[in-house]
Amino acid sequence: MVDPKRKRERMVREQIEARGITDPRVLAAMRAVPRHRFVQEALADHAYEDRPQPIGLGQTISQPHVVALMTSELEVEEGMRVLEIGTGSGYQAAVLAEMGAEVCTVERLRQLYMDARKRLQDLRYFRVRLKLDDGTMGWPSEGPFDRILVTAGGPEVPEPLLEQLADPGIMLIPVGSSRRSQTLVKVRKEDGKVRKENRGAVAFVDLVGEHGW
Ligand code: SAH
Repeated sequence: MVDPKRKRERMVREQIEARGITDPRVLAAMRAVPRHRFVQEALADHAYEDRPQPIGLGQTISQPHVVALMTSELEVEEGMRVLEIGTGSGYQAAVLAEMGAEVCTVERLRQLYMDARKRLQDLRYFRVRLKLDDGTMGWPSEGPFDRILVTAGGPEVPEPLLEQLADPGIMLIPVGSSRRSQTLVKVRKEDGKVRKENRGAVAFVDLVGEHGW
């Protein structure tokens, strides 16, 4: 495999910067995480392409631009407590850790949880804590969270997540009345009030659980 660092550099330039994401911290985080280590081994050569990749069990890791966009929209600052729902491969969690966040991430499928845990350990992302559970219930004992990022699409904003969002706080979640096509919703909590803003059409895998599909 040719030097993945160069592929990554190119990915950042052509897929991320060129599409208007300019926050240097986001670009640095996307440059730092070895994306080829998060896809199935046979697909490592394709890891830096402009599309989502299968990670097993019918789940996918989002395309680089979508990960960068979510990270940028989340307005993460050093030291913030961030909850991610849908660990998947652990890639997005690693990007958040590179942004300086204290990351808690929840995955409902055991195999993905186990693989992500090992991968993040091997890559020394010790600031990421993982849990095997239904993430639509959040992670109550670790809340409140300054930021919440849901990387699967559900029919509504799960109430427990709204409760575990700090004030002030920001949550990003794909919401849609039909499966596999959603609107990215940015939820802001401030002075006890909740505001929602639509940030465009997205397509994520299903959020399955008590407050999901
Ligand atoms: N963020 C991941 C990709 C997410 S794919 C990455 O960077 O690789 C969506 C993931 O959400 C899948 O792994 C799926 O199993 C998980 N998921 C779906 N519903 C969930 C729920 N209720 N709780 C936790 N994880 C869930």
